[in-house]
Amino acid sequence: MPDAAVVWFRRDLRVADQPTFLAAADAAPASLALFVLDPALLGPSGAARLSYLYASLRALDDALGGRLLVVRGDPAEVVPRVAADVDAATVHVAADFGPYGRKRDGAVAAALESGDRELVATGSPYAVAPGRVRKPDGEPYRVFTPFRSAWARHGWRGPAETDAATVDWIDPDGLDRVAIPAGDAVPADLPEAGETAALRCWREFLDGVLDDYAGDRDRPDKPGTSRMSPYLKYGQIHPRTMLADLSGRRSQAVDTYRTELAWREFYADILYQRPDSARGNYDRAFDALPLASGAAARTSFAAWCEGRTGFPIVDAGMRQLREQAWMHNRVRMIVASFLVKDLHLPWWWGARHFMQLLVDGDLASNQHGWQWTAGSGTDASPYFRVFNPITQAERFDPDGAYVRRFVPELRGVEGRAVHQPWKLPGGVPEGYPEPMVDHAAERRVALEGYEQVKAARSASA
Ligand code: FAD
Repeated sequence: MPDAAVVWFRRDLRVADQPTFLAAADAAPASLALFVLDPALLGPSGAARLSYLYASLRALDDALGGRLLVVRGDPAEVVPRVAADVDAATVHVAADFGPYGRKRDGAVAAALESGDRELVATGSPYAVAPGRVRKPDGEPYRVFTPFRSAWARHGWRGPAETDAATVDWIDPDGLDRVAIPAGDAVPADLPEAGETAALRCWREFLDGVLDDYAGDRDRPDKPGTSRMSPYLKYGQIHPRTMLADLSGRRSQAVDTYRTELAWREFYADILYQRPDSARGNYDRAFDALPLASGAAARTSFAAWCEGRTGFPIVDAGMRQLREQAWMHNRVRMIVASFLVKDLHLPWWWGARHFMQLLVDGDLASNQHGWQWTAGSGTDASPYFRVFNPITQAERFDPDGAYVRRFVPELRGVEGRAVHQPWKLPGGVPEGYPEPMVDHAAERRVALEGYEQVKAARSASA
Protein backbone atom coordinates (compact mmCIF):
# COMPACT_ATOMS: atom_id res chain seq x y z
CA MET A 1 0.00 0.00 0.00
CA PRO A 2 1.35 3.48 -0.81
CA ASP A 3 2.03 5.73 2.19
CA ALA A 4 -0.27 8.58 1.26
CA ALA A 5 -3.24 9.78 -0.75
CA VAL A 6 -4.70 13.21 -1.41
CA VAL A 7 -8.34 14.18 -0.89
CA TRP A 8 -8.98 17.13 -3.18
CA PHE A 9 -12.12 19.00 -2.04
CA ARG A 10 -14.11 20.96 -4.62
CA ARG A 11 -17.89 21.12 -4.29
CA ASP A 12 -17.96 18.81 -1.27
CA LEU A 13 -16.88 20.94 1.68
CA ARG A 14 -18.05 18.56 4.40
CA VAL A 15 -16.93 15.53 6.39
CA ALA A 16 -20.24 13.62 6.69
CA ASP A 17 -21.53 11.44 3.85
CA GLN A 18 -18.20 11.60 2.00
CA PRO A 19 -17.54 8.53 -0.20
CA THR A 20 -14.17 10.02 -1.22
CA PHE A 21 -12.98 9.61 2.39
CA LEU A 22 -13.75 5.89 2.25
CA ALA A 23 -11.91 5.54 -1.07
CA ALA A 24 -8.91 7.45 0.25
CA ALA A 25 -8.82 5.45 3.50
CA ASP A 26 -8.86 2.25 1.43
CA ALA A 27 -6.02 3.48 -0.75
CA ALA A 28 -3.51 4.67 1.86
CA PRO A 29 -3.06 4.88 5.65
CA ALA A 30 -3.01 8.71 5.61
CA SER A 31 -4.27 11.47 3.34
CA LEU A 32 -3.62 15.11 2.72
CA ALA A 33 -6.72 17.36 2.59
CA LEU A 34 -6.37 19.81 -0.29
CA PHE A 35 -8.32 22.74 -1.70
CA VAL A 36 -7.10 24.64 -4.76
CA LEU A 37 -7.98 28.30 -5.25
CA ASP A 38 -8.32 28.12 -9.03
CA PRO A 39 -8.20 31.57 -10.70
CA ALA A 40 -10.39 30.27 -13.54
CA LEU A 41 -13.24 29.69 -11.07
CA LEU A 42 -12.56 32.56 -8.69
CA GLY A 43 -12.60 35.19 -11.45
CA PRO A 44 -16.30 34.99 -12.42
CA SER A 45 -17.53 34.28 -8.88
CA GLY A 46 -18.36 37.72 -7.46
CA ALA A 47 -17.55 39.01 -3.98
CA ALA A 48 -20.47 37.38 -2.15
CA ARG A 49 -19.82 33.87 -3.41
CA LEU A 50 -16.08 34.22 -2.78
CA SER A 51 -16.61 35.49 0.73
CA TYR A 52 -18.99 32.61 1.36
CA LEU A 53 -16.53 30.11 -0.15
CA TYR A 54 -13.73 31.36 2.09
CA ALA A 55 -15.96 31.14 5.18
CA SER A 56 -16.89 27.60 4.11
CA LEU A 57 -13.21 26.69 3.77
CA ARG A 58 -12.48 28.02 7.25
CA ALA A 59 -15.32 25.87 8.63
CA LEU A 60 -13.95 22.82 6.79
CA ASP A 61 -10.44 23.51 8.06
CA ASP A 62 -11.80 23.65 11.62
CA ALA A 63 -13.64 20.36 11.11
CA LEU A 64 -10.37 18.79 9.91
CA GLY A 65 -8.45 20.02 12.95
CA GLY A 66 -6.64 22.74 10.97
CA ARG A 67 -5.22 20.23 8.45
CA LEU A 68 -6.64 21.63 5.20
CA LEU A 69 -3.88 22.59 2.77
CA VAL A 70 -4.96 25.51 0.59
CA VAL A 71 -2.92 26.35 -2.51
CA ARG A 72 -3.49 28.69 -5.41
CA GLY A 73 -2.97 28.04 -9.12
CA ASP A 74 -3.92 25.97 -12.13
CA PRO A 75 -4.99 22.56 -10.76
CA ALA A 76 -3.18 20.77 -13.60
CA GLU A 77 0.06 22.17 -12.17
CA VAL A 78 -0.53 22.37 -8.44
CA VAL A 79 -2.37 19.08 -7.79
CA PRO A 80 0.44 16.90 -9.23
CA ARG A 81 2.99 19.00 -7.34
CA VAL A 82 1.20 18.52 -4.00
CA ALA A 83 0.71 14.79 -4.71
CA ALA A 84 4.43 14.50 -5.38
CA ASP A 85 5.27 16.45 -2.20
CA VAL A 86 3.51 13.84 -0.04
CA ASP A 87 4.30 10.99 -2.44
CA ALA A 88 0.62 10.13 -2.93
CA ALA A 89 -0.23 7.49 -5.51
CA THR A 90 -3.86 8.57 -5.75
CA VAL A 91 -5.81 11.84 -5.64
CA HIS A 92 -9.44 11.38 -4.62
CA VAL A 93 -12.29 13.60 -5.77
CA ALA A 94 -16.04 13.64 -6.20
CA ALA A 95 -16.60 13.81 -9.97
CA ASP A 96 -17.43 17.16 -11.51
CA PHE A 97 -19.83 17.11 -14.46
CA GLY A 98 -19.77 20.78 -15.44
CA PRO A 99 -18.09 21.87 -18.68
CA TYR A 100 -15.07 23.47 -17.00
CA GLY A 101 -14.74 20.79 -14.32
CA ARG A 102 -14.61 17.99 -16.87
CA LYS A 103 -11.91 19.72 -18.87
CA ARG A 104 -9.92 20.58 -15.75
CA ASP A 105 -10.15 17.03 -14.38
CA GLY A 106 -9.03 15.60 -17.72
CA ALA A 107 -5.95 17.82 -17.62
CA VAL A 108 -5.23 16.97 -13.97
CA ALA A 109 -5.65 13.22 -14.60
CA ALA A 110 -3.23 13.40 -17.57
CA ALA A 111 -0.67 15.38 -15.56
CA LEU A 112 -0.91 12.95 -12.64
CA GLU A 113 -0.61 9.97 -14.95
CA SER A 114 2.66 11.23 -16.34
CA GLY A 115 4.01 10.94 -12.77
CA ASP A 116 2.45 7.48 -12.32
CA ARG A 117 -0.30 8.80 -10.11
CA GLU A 118 -4.04 8.48 -10.51
CA LEU A 119 -7.09 10.74 -10.18
CA VAL A 120 -9.82 8.62 -8.59
CA ALA A 121 -13.43 9.89 -8.77
CA THR A 122 -15.93 8.54 -6.26
CA GLY A 123 -19.47 9.95 -6.19
CA SER A 124 -20.60 13.38 -7.35
CA PRO A 125 -22.55 16.35 -5.99
CA TYR A 126 -25.78 14.64 -7.07
CA ALA A 127 -27.92 11.78 -5.78
CA VAL A 128 -27.71 10.26 -9.25
CA ALA A 129 -24.70 11.26 -11.34
CA PRO A 130 -25.45 13.08 -14.60
CA GLY A 131 -25.49 10.68 -17.53
CA ARG A 132 -26.96 7.79 -15.53
CA VAL A 133 -30.71 8.33 -15.97
CA ARG A 134 -31.50 7.29 -19.52
CA LYS A 135 -34.58 6.38 -21.56
CA PRO A 136 -35.04 2.68 -22.31
CA ASP A 137 -33.41 3.30 -25.73
CA GLY A 138 -30.34 4.79 -24.02
CA GLU A 139 -31.11 8.37 -25.06
CA PRO A 140 -31.03 11.16 -22.47
CA TYR A 141 -34.26 12.76 -21.26
CA ARG A 142 -35.08 16.22 -22.54
CA VAL A 143 -38.28 16.73 -20.57
CA PHE A 144 -38.41 16.98 -16.79
CA THR A 145 -41.45 14.91 -15.76
CA PRO A 146 -40.33 11.59 -17.30
CA PHE A 147 -36.77 12.31 -16.09
CA ARG A 148 -38.06 12.79 -12.57
CA SER A 149 -39.90 9.42 -12.64
CA ALA A 150 -36.90 7.60 -14.09
CA TRP A 151 -34.60 9.33 -11.57
CA ALA A 152 -36.79 8.19 -8.67
CA ARG A 153 -36.92 4.64 -10.10
CA HIS A 154 -33.13 4.61 -10.51
CA GLY A 155 -32.77 5.47 -6.83
CA TRP A 156 -29.62 6.39 -4.93
CA ARG A 157 -27.33 5.02 -2.27
CA GLY A 158 -27.79 5.77 1.40
CA PRO A 159 -25.45 8.34 2.96
CA ALA A 160 -21.84 7.20 3.40
CA GLU A 161 -20.96 6.87 7.08
CA THR A 162 -18.00 9.16 7.46
CA ASP A 163 -16.70 11.89 9.71
CA ALA A 164 -13.43 13.78 10.07
CA ALA A 165 -11.85 10.76 11.78
CA THR A 166 -12.53 8.40 8.84
CA VAL A 167 -9.20 9.53 7.40
CA ASP A 168 -5.88 10.03 9.17
CA TRP A 169 -5.05 13.56 7.93
CA ILE A 170 -1.47 14.45 7.11
CA ASP A 171 -0.21 17.59 8.83
CA PRO A 172 0.33 20.10 5.99
CA ASP A 173 2.87 22.16 7.96
CA GLY A 174 6.01 22.64 5.92
CA LEU A 175 4.21 22.35 2.57
CA ASP A 176 3.79 25.37 0.29
CA ARG A 177 0.41 26.93 1.06
CA VAL A 178 -1.59 30.12 1.11
CA ALA A 179 -3.83 31.41 3.88
CA ILE A 180 -7.57 31.19 3.26
CA PRO A 181 -8.31 34.73 2.01
CA ALA A 182 -10.47 37.01 4.14
CA GLY A 183 -12.42 38.07 1.02
CA ASP A 184 -13.62 41.56 0.19
CA ALA A 185 -16.17 43.24 2.38
CA VAL A 186 -19.57 42.27 0.99
CA PRO A 187 -22.61 44.51 1.32
CA ALA A 188 -24.84 41.41 1.33
CA ASP A 189 -26.19 39.62 4.36
CA LEU A 190 -24.80 36.09 3.77
CA PRO A 191 -25.99 32.85 5.37
CA GLU A 192 -23.74 31.22 7.93
CA ALA A 193 -21.25 28.95 6.14
CA GLY A 194 -20.14 25.43 6.97
CA GLU A 195 -21.46 21.94 7.41
CA THR A 196 -22.76 22.52 10.94
CA ALA A 197 -24.78 25.51 9.72
CA ALA A 198 -26.03 23.46 6.74
CA LEU A 199 -27.26 20.65 8.98
CA ARG A 200 -28.87 23.12 11.38
CA CYS A 201 -30.67 24.92 8.52
CA TRP A 202 -31.85 21.58 7.14
CA ARG A 203 -33.11 20.37 10.57
CA GLU A 204 -34.98 23.62 11.15
CA PHE A 205 -36.62 23.29 7.75
CA LEU A 206 -37.59 19.65 8.37
CA ASP A 207 -39.05 20.45 11.78
CA GLY A 208 -40.92 23.58 10.73
CA VAL A 209 -41.28 25.06 7.27
CA LEU A 210 -41.49 21.74 5.37
CA ASP A 211 -45.09 21.06 6.50
CA ASP A 212 -46.37 24.05 4.53
CA TYR A 213 -43.77 23.89 1.74
CA ALA A 214 -46.15 22.81 -1.04
CA GLY A 215 -48.33 25.89 -0.51
CA ASP A 216 -45.81 28.44 0.74
CA ARG A 217 -42.86 27.81 -1.55
CA ASP A 218 -44.21 30.32 -4.07
CA ARG A 219 -44.68 33.08 -1.50
CA PRO A 220 -41.69 35.44 -1.30
CA ASP A 221 -43.36 37.28 1.58
CA LYS A 222 -43.06 34.15 3.78
CA PRO A 223 -40.07 32.09 4.93
CA GLY A 224 -41.57 29.23 2.91
CA THR A 225 -38.50 27.56 1.38
CA SER A 226 -35.49 25.74 2.80
CA ARG A 227 -32.70 28.22 1.87
CA MET A 228 -30.49 25.16 1.32
CA SER A 229 -29.18 26.28 -2.08
CA PRO A 230 -25.84 27.79 -0.87
CA TYR A 231 -25.14 24.62 1.14
CA LEU A 232 -25.90 22.43 -1.86
CA LYS A 233 -23.80 24.64 -4.10
CA TYR A 234 -20.68 23.97 -2.05
CA GLY A 235 -21.63 20.48 -0.93
CA GLN A 236 -21.81 21.34 2.75
CA ILE A 237 -24.56 18.78 2.70
CA HIS A 238 -25.12 16.08 0.08
CA PRO A 239 -28.61 15.75 -1.47
CA ARG A 240 -28.40 12.03 -0.61
CA THR A 241 -28.44 12.96 3.09
CA MET A 242 -31.48 15.16 2.50
CA LEU A 243 -33.30 12.50 0.47
CA ALA A 244 -32.60 9.92 3.18
CA ASP A 245 -34.14 12.25 5.79
CA LEU A 246 -37.19 12.73 3.57
CA SER A 247 -37.63 9.04 2.86
CA GLY A 248 -39.34 8.31 6.16
CA ARG A 249 -41.97 10.99 5.61
CA ARG A 250 -45.01 11.03 3.37
CA SER A 251 -46.87 14.16 2.37
CA GLN A 252 -47.53 16.42 -0.57
CA ALA A 253 -44.88 18.77 0.81
CA VAL A 254 -42.24 16.03 0.88
CA ASP A 255 -43.06 15.02 -2.72
CA THR A 256 -42.83 18.64 -3.84
CA TYR A 257 -39.50 19.13 -2.12
CA ARG A 258 -38.09 15.94 -3.65
CA THR A 259 -39.22 17.22 -7.04
CA GLU A 260 -37.28 20.45 -6.51
CA LEU A 261 -34.14 18.46 -5.77
CA ALA A 262 -34.86 16.52 -8.96
CA TRP A 263 -34.86 19.79 -10.95
CA ARG A 264 -31.32 20.41 -9.73
CA GLU A 265 -30.31 16.94 -10.91
CA PHE A 266 -32.15 17.32 -14.22
CA TYR A 267 -30.40 20.57 -15.10
CA ALA A 268 -27.02 19.06 -14.22
CA ASP A 269 -27.86 16.19 -16.57
CA ILE A 270 -28.92 18.57 -19.35
CA LEU A 271 -25.75 20.63 -19.01
CA TYR A 272 -23.72 17.42 -19.12
CA GLN A 273 -25.45 16.40 -22.37
CA ARG A 274 -25.23 19.86 -23.86
CA PRO A 275 -22.31 21.84 -22.39
CA ASP A 276 -22.90 24.47 -25.09
CA SER A 277 -26.24 25.33 -23.43
CA ALA A 278 -24.31 27.21 -20.72
CA ARG A 279 -23.56 29.94 -23.24
CA GLY A 280 -26.31 29.81 -25.84
CA ASN A 281 -29.87 28.70 -26.54
CA TYR A 282 -30.61 25.04 -25.83
CA ASP A 283 -33.31 25.35 -28.48
CA ARG A 284 -31.39 26.76 -31.43
CA ALA A 285 -34.53 28.11 -33.10
CA PHE A 286 -34.35 30.87 -30.47
CA ASP A 287 -31.22 32.20 -32.14
CA ALA A 288 -33.74 33.89 -34.48
CA LEU A 289 -35.41 35.86 -31.67
CA PRO A 290 -34.91 39.60 -32.24
CA LEU A 291 -33.09 41.17 -29.27
CA ALA A 292 -32.61 44.75 -28.12
CA SER A 293 -29.10 46.10 -28.58
CA GLY A 294 -27.06 49.29 -28.40
CA ALA A 295 -27.11 52.09 -25.85
CA ALA A 296 -30.85 51.81 -25.10
CA ALA A 297 -30.45 48.12 -24.28
CA ARG A 298 -27.54 48.88 -21.96
CA THR A 299 -29.56 51.58 -20.19
CA SER A 300 -32.55 49.33 -19.61
CA PHE A 301 -30.24 46.55 -18.42
CA ALA A 302 -28.68 48.93 -15.88
CA ALA A 303 -32.14 49.91 -14.57
CA TRP A 304 -33.05 46.21 -14.19
CA CYS A 305 -29.77 45.44 -12.38
CA GLU A 306 -30.27 48.36 -9.99
CA GLY A 307 -33.90 47.49 -9.23
CA ARG A 308 -35.22 50.72 -10.72
CA THR A 309 -37.64 49.47 -13.37
CA GLY A 310 -40.72 51.04 -11.76
CA PHE A 311 -42.31 47.57 -11.37
CA PRO A 312 -42.20 46.99 -7.61
CA ILE A 313 -41.99 43.18 -7.58
CA VAL A 314 -39.14 43.25 -10.11
CA ASP A 315 -37.30 45.94 -8.17
CA ALA A 316 -37.82 44.14 -4.85
CA GLY A 317 -36.29 40.98 -6.34
CA MET A 318 -33.29 42.77 -7.78
CA ARG A 319 -32.69 44.53 -4.49
CA GLN A 320 -33.06 41.30 -2.53
CA LEU A 321 -30.34 39.90 -4.80
CA ARG A 322 -28.01 42.74 -3.77
CA GLU A 323 -28.91 42.65 -0.09
CA GLN A 324 -28.89 38.90 0.45
CA ALA A 325 -26.98 37.53 -2.57
CA TRP A 326 -30.07 35.33 -2.95
CA MET A 327 -33.52 35.72 -4.46
CA HIS A 328 -36.74 33.81 -3.99
CA ASN A 329 -37.42 31.32 -6.81
CA ARG A 330 -40.78 32.82 -7.83
CA VAL A 331 -39.20 36.26 -8.04
CA ARG A 332 -36.22 34.87 -10.02
CA MET A 333 -38.79 33.80 -12.61
CA ILE A 334 -40.56 37.17 -12.56
CA VAL A 335 -37.41 39.28 -12.95
CA ALA A 336 -36.06 36.92 -15.61
CA SER A 337 -39.29 37.09 -17.59
CA PHE A 338 -39.21 40.88 -17.33
CA LEU A 339 -35.65 41.05 -18.68
CA VAL A 340 -36.42 38.76 -21.61
CA LYS A 341 -40.00 39.58 -22.53
CA ASP A 342 -40.47 43.18 -21.41
CA LEU A 343 -36.97 44.50 -22.12
CA HIS A 344 -36.15 42.05 -24.97
CA LEU A 345 -32.61 41.59 -23.68
CA PRO A 346 -30.54 38.40 -24.10
CA TRP A 347 -31.17 35.96 -21.22
CA TRP A 348 -27.43 35.46 -20.87
CA TRP A 349 -27.00 39.08 -19.76
CA GLY A 350 -29.31 38.41 -16.84
CA ALA A 351 -27.76 34.99 -16.18
CA ARG A 352 -24.30 36.54 -15.98
CA HIS A 353 -25.51 39.19 -13.53
CA PHE A 354 -27.10 36.47 -11.38
CA MET A 355 -23.90 34.42 -11.44
CA GLN A 356 -21.93 37.44 -10.26
CA LEU A 357 -24.23 38.18 -7.32
CA LEU A 358 -25.83 34.91 -6.19
CA VAL A 359 -24.31 33.10 -3.24
CA ASP A 360 -25.86 29.90 -4.65
CA GLY A 361 -24.81 30.67 -8.26
CA ASP A 362 -24.71 27.32 -10.02
CA LEU A 363 -24.07 27.13 -13.74
CA ALA A 364 -26.55 24.32 -14.50
CA SER A 365 -29.48 25.59 -12.38
CA ASN A 366 -28.89 29.21 -13.29
CA GLN A 367 -28.45 28.94 -17.06
CA HIS A 368 -31.34 26.51 -17.34
CA GLY A 369 -33.55 28.45 -14.90
CA TRP A 370 -33.03 31.39 -17.21
CA GLN A 371 -33.69 29.37 -20.33
CA TRP A 372 -36.84 27.89 -18.83
CA THR A 373 -38.15 31.42 -18.41
CA ALA A 374 -36.82 32.64 -21.74
CA GLY A 375 -38.52 29.73 -23.49
CA SER A 376 -35.30 28.54 -25.12
CA GLY A 377 -34.58 25.63 -22.77
CA THR A 378 -35.99 22.22 -21.94
CA ASP A 379 -39.57 22.12 -20.70
CA ALA A 380 -39.67 25.82 -21.42
CA SER A 381 -42.67 27.57 -20.03
CA PRO A 382 -44.30 28.28 -23.38
CA TYR A 383 -42.74 31.43 -24.81
CA PHE A 384 -46.15 33.02 -25.23
CA ARG A 385 -46.80 32.68 -21.49
CA VAL A 386 -45.51 36.13 -20.61
CA PHE A 387 -45.41 36.74 -16.85
CA ASN A 388 -47.43 39.82 -15.93
CA PRO A 389 -45.42 41.48 -13.14
CA ILE A 390 -48.55 42.97 -11.58
CA THR A 391 -50.76 39.89 -11.45
CA GLN A 392 -47.79 37.77 -10.35
CA ALA A 393 -47.12 40.24 -7.55
CA GLU A 394 -50.76 40.34 -6.46
CA ARG A 395 -50.97 36.58 -6.45
CA PHE A 396 -47.72 35.72 -4.67
CA ASP A 397 -47.18 38.82 -2.50
CA PRO A 398 -50.85 39.49 -1.80
CA ASP A 399 -50.39 42.11 0.89
CA GLY A 400 -47.23 43.65 -0.60
CA ALA A 401 -45.07 42.79 2.43
CA TYR A 402 -42.20 41.48 0.27
CA VAL A 403 -42.10 44.65 -1.84
CA ARG A 404 -42.18 46.93 1.20
CA ARG A 405 -39.35 44.97 2.78
CA PHE A 406 -36.94 45.55 -0.11
CA VAL A 407 -38.16 48.83 -1.63
CA PRO A 408 -37.95 51.51 1.07
CA GLU A 409 -39.44 54.21 -1.18
CA LEU A 410 -42.73 52.27 -1.12
CA ARG A 411 -42.84 51.47 2.60
CA GLY A 412 -45.52 54.06 3.21
CA VAL A 413 -47.96 52.38 0.79
CA GLU A 414 -50.34 49.98 2.48
CA GLY A 415 -51.61 46.65 1.16
CA ARG A 416 -51.56 45.49 -2.42
CA ALA A 417 -51.74 49.05 -3.77
CA VAL A 418 -47.93 48.89 -3.47
CA HIS A 419 -47.82 46.78 -6.65
CA GLN A 420 -49.12 49.63 -8.84
CA PRO A 421 -47.78 52.85 -7.30
CA TRP A 422 -48.60 54.81 -10.46
CA LYS A 423 -52.29 54.39 -9.56
CA LEU A 424 -51.92 56.01 -6.12
CA PRO A 425 -53.95 59.23 -5.72
CA GLY A 426 -50.75 61.22 -5.15
CA GLY A 427 -48.88 59.43 -7.96
CA VAL A 428 -45.65 57.46 -7.62
CA PRO A 429 -44.00 58.18 -4.21
CA GLU A 430 -40.97 60.44 -4.35
CA GLY A 431 -37.72 58.74 -5.24
CA TYR A 432 -39.38 55.74 -6.91
CA PRO A 433 -39.34 55.58 -10.75
CA GLU A 434 -42.31 55.52 -13.10
CA PRO A 435 -42.72 52.17 -14.92
CA MET A 436 -39.99 52.02 -17.56
CA VAL A 437 -42.17 50.19 -20.11
CA ASP A 438 -45.82 49.54 -20.94
CA HIS A 439 -46.14 45.84 -20.15
CA ALA A 440 -49.07 45.23 -22.53
CA ALA A 441 -47.18 46.80 -25.45
CA GLU A 442 -43.95 44.90 -24.70
CA ARG A 443 -45.88 41.68 -24.43
CA ARG A 444 -47.06 42.19 -28.01
CA VAL A 445 -43.48 42.88 -29.16
CA ALA A 446 -42.35 39.67 -27.43
CA LEU A 447 -45.06 37.65 -29.15
CA GLU A 448 -44.23 39.14 -32.55
CA GLY A 449 -40.59 38.15 -32.00
CA TYR A 450 -41.69 34.63 -31.25
CA GLU A 451 -43.20 34.38 -34.75
CA GLN A 452 -39.63 34.57 -36.06
CA VAL A 453 -38.61 31.69 -33.80
CA LYS A 454 -41.51 29.64 -35.15
CA ALA A 455 -40.51 30.50 -38.72
CA ALA A 456 -36.91 29.47 -38.03
CA ARG A 457 -38.13 26.21 -36.51
CA SER A 458 -40.34 25.31 -39.45
CA ALA A 459 -37.58 26.27 -41.90
CA SER A 460 -35.21 23.82 -40.21
CA ALA A 461 -37.83 21.03 -39.85
P1 FAD B 1 -36.17 25.35 -2.08
O1 FAD B 1 -37.50 25.70 -2.66
O2 FAD B 1 -36.13 25.08 -0.65
O3 FAD B 1 -35.65 24.11 -2.92
C1 FAD B 1 -34.74 23.15 -2.39
C2 FAD B 1 -33.61 22.92 -3.34
O4 FAD B 1 -34.09 22.37 -4.56
C3 FAD B 1 -32.88 24.18 -3.73
O5 FAD B 1 -31.91 24.56 -2.76
C4 FAD B 1 -32.26 23.78 -5.05
O6 FAD B 1 -31.09 23.04 -4.87
C5 FAD B 1 -33.32 22.87 -5.66
N1 FAD B 1 -34.18 23.66 -6.54
C6 FAD B 1 -35.34 24.28 -6.23
N2 FAD B 1 -35.88 24.85 -7.33
C7 FAD B 1 -35.03 24.60 -8.34
C8 FAD B 1 -35.03 24.92 -9.73
N3 FAD B 1 -36.02 25.60 -10.31
N4 FAD B 1 -33.99 24.52 -10.47
C9 FAD B 1 -32.97 23.80 -9.93
N5 FAD B 1 -32.93 23.46 -8.63
C10 FAD B 1 -33.94 23.84 -7.86
N6 FAD B 1 -30.70 27.58 -8.10
C11 FAD B 1 -29.43 27.48 -7.69
O7 FAD B 1 -29.14 26.65 -6.81
N7 FAD B 1 -28.45 28.25 -8.25
C12 FAD B 1 -28.71 29.17 -9.22
O8 FAD B 1 -27.79 29.85 -9.69
C13 FAD B 1 -30.06 29.32 -9.64
N8 FAD B 1 -30.39 30.26 -10.57
C14 FAD B 1 -31.70 30.38 -10.97
C15 FAD B 1 -32.04 31.33 -11.96
C16 FAD B 1 -33.36 31.48 -12.39
C17 FAD B 1 -33.70 32.51 -13.45
C18 FAD B 1 -34.35 30.65 -11.83
C19 FAD B 1 -35.78 30.79 -12.28
C20 FAD B 1 -34.04 29.70 -10.87
C21 FAD B 1 -32.72 29.54 -10.43
N9 FAD B 1 -32.36 28.61 -9.43
C22 FAD B 1 -31.05 28.48 -9.04
C23 FAD B 1 -33.36 27.68 -8.87
C24 FAD B 1 -34.07 28.18 -7.59
O9 FAD B 1 -34.50 29.50 -7.76
C25 FAD B 1 -33.18 28.10 -6.35
O10 FAD B 1 -32.59 26.82 -6.26
C26 FAD B 1 -34.00 28.33 -5.08
O11 FAD B 1 -34.60 29.59 -5.11
C27 FAD B 1 -33.09 28.21 -3.87
O12 FAD B 1 -33.78 28.51 -2.70
P2 FAD B 1 -34.14 27.36 -1.65
O13 FAD B 1 -32.94 26.55 -1.33
O14 FAD B 1 -34.84 28.02 -0.51
O15 FAD B 1 -35.16 26.50 -2.51
